[in-house]
Amino acid sequence: MADPLPSRAPARAEWTNAEGLLRQVVRATHGEAREGQQLVTAAVDRALIEHTHLLVEAGPGVGKSRAYLSALVSHLVHGDLKRVVIATYTTALQDQLIHHDLPAVLAQAGTPLRAALLKGRGNYLCRARLQGQVQRGDGLLQLGGGGAPVGLRELVTWADRTPTGDRSAPDFPPAFDPEGWGQVTVLPEECTGSKCSFHDRCFAEQARERAADAQIVVVNISLLMMHLLLAEAGLLPEHDAVVIDEAHKLRDVATEAFGHKVGPRRLHLIGGRLSHFLSRGGQDHQLVSAIHAEAEALERAILDRLPTDRAGNPIPTALPELTPALARVLHRADSTLEAVADRLRQIADYEEPHQADAADRIRKLITASRRLMGTVWDPDDTSVRWLQVMPLEVCVTPVSPARDLRARLFNGTTTVILTSATLRIGGNFGPVARMLGVPQEHEAVVAPSPFDYPRQAVLFLPRGMPDPRSGEYASEVQRMLTTLIRAAGGRTLALFTSISAMREAHEALRGRLGVMAYCQGELPQQRLIEAFRDDERSCLFATMGYWQGVDVAGSSLSLVVIDKLPFEPPGHPVTEARQRLAEASGHNAFQSVSLPPVAMTLTQGVGRLIRSTTDTGMVAILDPRLSTARYRHLLLKGLPPMTRVHDLDVAVAKLKEMTGTSR
Ligand code: SF4
Repeated sequence: MADPLPSRAPARAEWTNAEGLLRQVVRATHGEAREGQQLVTAAVDRALIEHTHLLVEAGPGVGKSRAYLSALVSHLVHGDLKRVVIATYTTALQDQLIHHDLPAVLAQAGTPLRAALLKGRGNYLCRARLQGQVQRGDGLLQLGGGGAPVGLRELVTWADRTPTGDRSAPDFPPAFDPEGWGQVTVLPEECTGSKCSFHDRCFAEQARERAADAQIVVVNISLLMMHLLLAEAGLLPEHDAVVIDEAHKLRDVATEAFGHKVGPRRLHLIGGRLSHFLSRGGQDHQLVSAIHAEAEALERAILDRLPTDRAGNPIPTALPELTPALARVLHRADSTLEAVADRLRQIADYEEPHQADAADRIRKLITASRRLMGTVWDPDDTSVRWLQVMPLEVCVTPVSPARDLRARLFNGTTTVILTSATLRIGGNFGPVARMLGVPQEHEAVVAPSPFDYPRQAVLFLPRGMPDPRSGEYASEVQRMLTTLIRAAGGRTLALFTSISAMREAHEALRGRLGVMAYCQGELPQQRLIEAFRDDERSCLFATMGYWQGVDVAGSSLSLVVIDKLPFEPPGHPVTEARQRLAEASGHNAFQSVSLPPVAMTLTQGVGRLIRSTTDTGMVAILDPRLSTARYRHLLLKGLPPMTRVHDLDVAVAKLKEMTGTSR
């Protein structure tokens, strides 16, 4: 990925305002001006002039990125904005912005502007850690998962020629095992910053400098949240406006960022770092063993407290009080870490500067980890303490991120624009605005999709499906899938709500469909989507990451099948705490807590079908609750206005007609 964005000679400016710039961009790319796109540009332009926070729901195909970019660039060129930050949830959208939308808009700006992509520190090669590995020289990086082994030499050669040190750069050694990456990068809390001997040549620092020099900075939502949380660290340069795209994921990312977690994985990580560091001298190894022993004790203490489901698998649970065993092991782990930090301080005569650097990094990591462990003792009453299963961790999670978001994101002078294809619940922005802490005085706009859904798409809600909780549901879903996939001649994205249901269906059907059936996990996501797109008669079985990450226009994707409504699993401690909070504030817990994420995810999943004005196809939602439940109208209202069918024979005939398989 190019970073920073290459500057290009801008076209002569003929535009005078944001809408004029959008028109020029559209003209230059031989596109058509879309009503929804103009609406978004005008709304963002107004929000920037009036310093109002704005919510924009823009249906599929609106071209909202170029719309908001035109408004942002217009204000940057006119000098009433100095710098803007655009935060996305997926890297796919970051790529789209950096490689396509930003160049298209900047080319028409008439004034050179700089844009930069900034990622979290863990995405960049850490020269200090690489040097440490080179000094060890034990071939530790000969991992090469399945391909040719990638040794240190190749990584060092790459480090010498890469301008970015970004692990997703196109020339990154292709067979490098992701497991090896953790050994040549740092967690943000272990980086020693200006004290590091490599600070002047540090890739992560150079990326920050480029961001500080740019007027448009593209980041992910997670980095933006970390910036808000660690205000004094200044992870992002000062800016006057933020656009959060894919804002339907903001609650989840903010909840994660504003919470705390501690578990055996972190202790093992510190043990691993220490073991590498001490390996040369071979001294103090009992400290390494002690840390790993504490990690194992913590794992046992968590597992002992976790309840199990009927199949004997552990399930997450609330932890109002720390068990004596957990309290004991956390105390002991803290003392062990303190002893390690003391010992590292005592070893003063390091032979090489990189050893002193490494000792500093481990001490920083230990300090941060001890602080983290401290947070799980006494959570405040706006958080819930609970035990997580994957991975095993003691978590303290804010019941709602609204308070933090309001205080940190919406309370300053920065104009915040939230945009997504799904921000309304039942046609109303209120639930999402409340959930995210958006102040009362904000603007909201809906930009309708340019797609002719009644003509282009059919919604199939089959009659007679069994209860999704019943034992026969999975086999009925598989039967339905087989019939529909055969009728469509492949061309199907099958979206599941659980990995086990996806695997079970894939296992049962892959040899019976007469077409290639890809399954999530067989290849990295982008490569899997490309394989699915390139083989028109294939199908793809996938779960949550694909409900919003797939953008396949054309006949390769003519059928989307959704197995169940995407409700969160019942009994999750954070969801239950949210429901209690909603009830205490006089809201209906089901409607205000459980339904909004279902509505947003469902609309995202359905949105995979029609990606251009020439696409046609069918969405089959097999869950009978969409035909029978009282809340169905709320969910259906959020879906595009597709032609509805309920009869399988009619659906099959329509599919054959649309995909040409009847000919
Ligand atoms: S400053 Fe040093 S420790 Fe931090 S990321 Fe850069 S090279 Fe690594």
